[in-house]
Amino acid sequence: MKLEIQVLDSPLARPFTISRGTITSQRTVIVRLELLGVVGYGEVNESDYYGHKVESIVASLKSVNREVESCSLASGDQLWKELNETLAGDLFALSALDMAAHDLFSKSAGQCCWETLGLSWGSPPPSSWTLSVGTPSQVVREFQLNPGWGIYKVKLGTSQDLEVIAALRGHTDALIRVDANCAWSSRETVEKSEALSQLGVEFIEQPLPANAPPSEHKWVREESALPIIADESCCVPADIERCAELFHGVNIKLCKCGGLTPAVQMLQEARSLGLRTMVGCMVESSIGISAATQLLPLLDYCDLDGALLLASDPAVGVTVEQGVVSRPRRAGCGGVLRDETCFTM
Ligand SMILES: [Mg+2]
Repeated sequence: MKLEIQVLDSPLARPFTISRGTITSQRTVIVRLELLGVVGYGEVNESDYYGHKVESIVASLKSVNREVESCSLASGDQLWKELNETLAGDLFALSALDMAAHDLFSKSAGQCCWETLGLSWGSPPPSSWTLSVGTPSQVVREFQLNPGWGIYKVKLGTSQDLEVIAALRGHTDALIRVDANCAWSSRETVEKSEALSQLGVEFIEQPLPANAPPSEHKWVREESALPIIADESCCVPADIERCAELFHGVNIKLCKCGGLTPAVQMLQEARSLGLRTMVGCMVESSIGISAATQLLPLLDYCDLDGALLLASDPAVGVTVEQGVVSRPRRAGCGGVLRDETCFTM
């Protein structure tokens, strides 16, 4: 199997702010695998929070080129199984490879990736649209620039959190979810949960830092007026059992766990333990988003608007228009790059 890599630096349509800071562009690595004339794509973003830069991801990918070259890909998860231990220190690189391998394998089988993953499409949940951290008037303005979604996920983490949601509620009856990205204390979370519940918020994502003591997560889970969903606290399969004690649900992302192979396992285990399930994204192109949407059959909540935050999506694939996920009529994950000329190894 032939491995090629392309680094993208994609400007955002508008600055994107969470409690940890603002970005105006996003660097990602695109992986292209080719076997017997069939091509599969994967993508992963860089992330300061998780400690993976484009340069380190590319170095990890190059370090396993020989293993990739000799892989016969007899199943969608074969490459993941062969590289899981070698790339245990760079699950971001592993994620991009696993995504591309599943894309290629399902294309070879003439099926959609969710089919080769053994899933049934059913009627999957719609995606939310994410609103950056801001003042009440800034958040309302962002909402007005992106009307018509049934669900908005609002990034919080300032002294004006409640005013922001109250102002937004004055303009929409849409479902509102909030994400504090680790910015709140336990007492603050419980207090805010009461007011947010009265404003019709559906749940709170990751209020406490991931390294807060388990006793604090547990107290928040018991005292909060709203369900609490783990994001930064839920990265890899080993986290699921612990999260079942500390949260009401989990937000799984391909880059955090190492790809579609572990994500399916995590979602199935989460459901068996009574956790609500969600898949989220980073700012990434329709390559990454199309791969993540293959997991929709396993979800209660979907947050896959990442490609829409880009000024110009370098790929086409699954679309997420006002929350409605539509799949292209082609095998694989559905994502295809607009420009194929920039790959190197
Ligand atoms: Mg989050």
